[in-house]
Amino acid sequence: MTDCIFCKILKGEFGTEFIYENEYAVVFKDINPKADIHLLVVPRLHVESLNELDDENLLAKLMMTVKEVTKKEGINSFRTVINTGKEAGQEVFHLHIHILSGGFK
Ligand code: 5GP
Ligand code: ZN
Repeated sequence: MTDCIFCKILKGEFGTEFIYENEYAVVFKDINPKADIHLLVVPRLHVESLNELDDENLLAKLMMTVKEVTKKEGINSFRTVINTGKEAGQEVFHLHIHILSGGFK
């Protein structure tokens, strides 16, 4: 997916700092934070949304990545969000999990 912004970020095209990464995913700060802490867990594999995901193992790995990065960053209380589809507010069609904590807007 050459025109996918998250694939470009994954390739390092914008020099985005990765807060955390593992074999399956990278984690970086949302450019337009909707809480004091707003991170995105993005799988290395391009999957458009949860609707297109058929690998339950990947979903488990992504949720474990949420756990790993929040633990590492000392974020004890947080909300996870996955927007699926345009009408639900999905803007970037590369599956990702939002991690939000504190000062919700
Ligand atoms: P969605 O609405 O698709 O669930 O969430 C996409 C998120 O990606 C939005 O919160 C938006 O602010 C964030 N985002 C879009 N483009 C970029 C970017 O180039 N860099 C970063 N760090 N975040 C982005
Ligand atoms: Zn992508």
